[in-house]
Amino acid sequence: MPLRKVAIIGLGLLGGSIGLAVREHLPDVATTGYDADPDVRSKARALGLAHTIADDPAEAVRGADLVVLCVPVGAMRAAAQAIAPGLSDSVIISDVGSSKQRVGKALAEELPGRHVIPAHPVAGTEQSGPDAGFASLFHQRWCIVTPPEGADAHKVAALVDFWKSLGSTVEVMDAAHHDMVLAVTSHIPHLIAYTMVGVADDLRRVTDSEVIRYSAAGFRDFTRIAASDPTMWRDVFLNNKEATLEILGRFTEELFALQRAIRTGDGDHLHDYFTRTRAIRRGIVEAGQDTDAPDFGRGQGRK
Ligand code: NAP
Repeated sequence: MPLRKVAIIGLGLLGGSIGLAVREHLPDVATTGYDADPDVRSKARALGLAHTIADDPAEAVRGADLVVLCVPVGAMRAAAQAIAPGLSDSVIISDVGSSKQRVGKALAEELPGRHVIPAHPVAGTEQSGPDAGFASLFHQRWCIVTPPEGADAHKVAALVDFWKSLGSTVEVMDAAHHDMVLAVTSHIPHLIAYTMVGVADDLRRVTDSEVIRYSAAGFRDFTRIAASDPTMWRDVFLNNKEATLEILGRFTEELFALQRAIRTGDGDHLHDYFTRTRAIRRGIVEAGQDTDAPDFGRGQGRK
């Protein structure tokens, strides 16, 4: 089922990047875009993030065979309500939200009987807004598609093909499994970075600028992650509550064990633990998921 028209709702980092990537990789596909913020719509027009930028959400999706919701997870329900009057019967409704179970449920509730197929491109930066988008964002990145039970196989295949066309490697997964995996690989690491930068900020008041002056790569990486969009991340935690609390509980237990090892001088425990985690890092590099470059290869492919 070849796509002819794709509508993008929300024209920030993800929405803008999809628009630019479609232009580059699917030149025969028309795009329309809509964003709730009029200033973002003006910028999107100037930047050419979609062929047409509509001032009304229902107008933006009219005639589209794929709609991709690229708004914060907490805004998905409202976005679905707003596009409903303009949808055609056969349209695929998807999204790029970082959590999948609650988003899938909200979309299915707002758009009953529609082909709702959630997805999550595991690709992003700490930047947000329409200026942040770039066409190669999805190159060699995973996109996880989480079709609900009974989803139309042809529609799922069309969505998978769409993401492959933009350069992604696609994995089809159950939404609950997605949320647990992403809690481990992305959500809790972000929470830890936010916490560490918060702790350092408190400390900085005592030690003036030493925290910044002597910040080595570890802390600098934390500050980069902790600069991520506050709205997006608030919504991720509120919408992936169960999985993030589960992983946070396990994390806290491990942290207490390490704390105890330091207090009791249990060097063997610390050494064994760090040996195990080092092997995991090596495994990631060997699997081609990252590089040993100082910026972990993140600058590669970006235009
Ligand atoms: P972003 O740059 O902040 O863009 C989101 C845009 O959506 C903003 O312009 C926002 O306007 C607009 N918006 C909010 N509510 C809307 C509505 N009801 N209708 C239309 N537009 C609306 O955010 P992003 O980084 O692209 O993230 C978008 C989605 O992608 C999120 O669900 C996030 O979880 C997911 N995601 C992000 C990353 C990442 O690294 N950033 C990676 C993978 C997936 P206002 O600013 O005025 O609210």
